[in-house]
Parts: sequence; C-alpha cells; structure tokens
Amino acid sequence: MKPILPSISSTFAISVYHFITYDIEHHKDEVKPTTWFVVHGNLGNIKGVIVVDRYLQQKLNEQNFYYYWLVYFLLLCLIAAGIVYYYNTRHDLQKMLVVGCKKNEFIPYYQPIMSLDDKLQGVEVLVRWKLSDGSLLLPAYFIEVAEQMEVINEITITLVKKVQADFRRYSSNYNRKVFCAFNLTAQQIENKSFINLLILTLKKEENFVPSFEITERQHFNNLALAKANIRRLQEQGYQVKLDDAGTGYGGFSYFMDFNLDGVKIDKMFIDVIGVDDVKVEVLNSIIMMAKRLGIDIVAEGVETQQQVDFLRKHNIDYIQGYYYSKPVPFKDLNFDN
Ligand code: C2E
Ligand code: CA
Ligand code: CA
Repeated sequence: MKPILPSISSTFAISVYHFITYDIEHHKDEVKPTTWFVVHGNLGNIKGVIVVDRYLQQKLNEQNFYYYWLVYFLLLCLIAAGIVYYYNTRHDLQKMLVVGCKKNEFIPYYQPIMSLDDKLQGVEVLVRWKLSDGSLLLPAYFIEVAEQMEVINEITITLVKKVQADFRRYSSNYNRKVFCAFNLTAQQIENKSFINLLILTLKKEENFVPSFEITERQHFNNLALAKANIRRLQEQGYQVKLDDAGTGYGGFSYFMDFNLDGVKIDKMFIDVIGVDDVKVEVLNSIIMMAKRLGIDIVAEGVETQQQVDFLRKHNIDYIQGYYYSKPVPFKDLNFDN
C-alpha cells in the first residue's frame, strides 16, 4: 500500500475516523521525524495508509482546540455568506420585479397547441421579461420569486390585456377561434378578488376562448375556496387544466376534488418515450386515468417524431412542443395549419 497523503490535517483525520471502518497501527521512525498512522480502512474499494508528519502532529496536539474552532468558524462564515448572498440576490430580484411591472416590461409569448391532425387549436401564453436593453428573460430566472409576491397578479392581468390587444391587432392572421391558456398559481386560484378581476377583464372577450392551467408548484391552503373559484371560471365557459401533472404536490387527487377539464402531461414523462420502457408505464397510467375520467389530455415538451407517433397511437387530444414550434410572438403564429 502506498501513502495516500504526505501529511494530513486533523480535520481530515477526524472525517476518516467517522467514515471508514478503521484499524490503526502506530509507527514511529526514529531516523526521520515522521509518524505513521497506518489505517487499514475500507471506504468503498479504497484502502490506504495515511501518514502524519510528526511535527505537524505535535502542533496539532498543542493547538487542536483552536484549530478545530478556526476551521469550523471559517466554515460557518462561508455558509453565512452564502445565505446573505442568496437573500440579497432574492431581495434585489423582488425589487426589480416591482420596477419591471411598473415599467410594463412583461410580455406574452405564444406556443401552439395542436390536435392530432396537425391543426393549431390553441396557444399557451408564456411570460417573457423584456429588459430595457431589449433582451428577453425566461421565466426560469424570475417566476418562482414572482409567484410568491403580489406582483404575480399584476403580471397575469397585464398578460391577459396584452394577449387581448394582440388578438385584436392581428385579427387578419386567424380565421377561427382558438383557445388561449394562461398559467395560474394555486394562490391565485384561491384569491377571490383576483379571480373576480380576471373574469371582469375577460368578460367581453370574443376573439379567443380563455383557458387556464394551474401549476402545482405551491400547496393549496383552502381546497373549498379553490374549488369554488375553479367552478366560477368554468361557469364562464373557460376550461381549467392541471399543469405538470404528476410532478407537484397534489398529483391526481386534484382531479377528484376539482372536476378539472384536462391534464397537461409534463415533458419529463414525454422524454421517456422510446428511451425507458419502465417509465413509459407511468405515462401509460396517466393517460389511462385521464381517459377513464373523460378529460382532455395535452402532452407538452414533444420534440420528436417518435413521441408524436406514440401519442397519436394512444389517441391523446393535444400536442405541444418544439416539434411544432417554440414559443413565439403573436405575429409569428401560423394559424394556417
Ligand atoms: P410550463 O407551464 O410547463 O410551460 C412549458 C415550458 O416548457 C415553457 O417554458 C416552454 O417554452 C417549454 N417547452 C415547451 N415545449 C418544449 C419542448 O419541446 N422542449 C423543451 N425543452 N421545452 C419546451 P418557459 O416558457 O420557459 O416557461 C417555464 C415555466 O414558467 C412554465 O412551465 C410555467 O410554469 C411558468 N410560466 C410561464 N409563464 C407564466 C405565467 O404567465 N404565469 C405563471 N405563474 N407561470 C408562468
Ligand atoms: Ca403551463
Ligand atoms: Ca411543464
């Protein structure tokens, strides 16, 4: 066995003590000022000998106490600095979101939702943050923080109004009514005054059929209120679907409680088609369950012909994904197919 370290710190020695089954032999060499601790240990397949320099060992013995505390103090400082950095960044983002909202910087992009005969039947509205330099920020950078703030309500209403304006402005681009799906959080669904405002804003909409996708990123706190608000949206003729089904908190229990109109199967379940036969069974059971409930099935994140073929074979209702189109500005939507 070869020495694995010329000298080691006591901290390392401590961790070795904790993590391997060890058996220590103590060697002293009177010629060289070195002490061996031969550790016959197993850490997985790793076996080794650890050599501690005697001078270092003496120093460690004298200063052990202070040394440990210095190391742990530095570690604590590092963790604290990380936490402060995280909260500062988050706080900055919160301030930027409020300013961005005041400056009207949130805009809708649209991704086509196709029926199995390759016809555009609807679109999903996906928010983009247009910064003052013209660059677009994807939701991944801000949506989770925004969703925990009041500002998400303002963003959603702003999007609805901009979508209405787009449909009015480009009315010559389409010749039939399609549905238009907005993303809502659990908290928004539970917020009666927000739902009132949403219904009021969409009251006279005639160019598209509003539809809603509930993301499961947060818990529902008041299921009865959520259910009542969902029913109110459905009474307006709007569909309400469960987004990212199977990935969130409630999973399929919401189907039973909420009487939803449909389910969107997340990309992670689509990605396994043709790749992992075992995981495809999960996808099959989601499809089977939705069919038994008689609700719409939308597959999202569809990228390949193989996935489209599989979904066609299983006769789901709608397909959405880069296979057809990435999210685009309204003027780039193609209603002809
Ligand atoms: P989501 O609701 O699951 O939306 C689908 C996401 O997958 C979108 O990402 C879309 O661009 C992406 N996607 C669609 N097809 C494909 C594909 O074939 N391949 C790949 N790699 N990706 C695909 P995006 O636009 O970045 O949005 C991310 C998430 O942000 C959305 O996930 C949604 O949860 C959230 N979000 C977007 N807009 C809003 C909004 O207005 N309000 C709220 N609360 N959340 C929103
Ligand atoms: Ca969605
Ligand atoms: Ca998703």
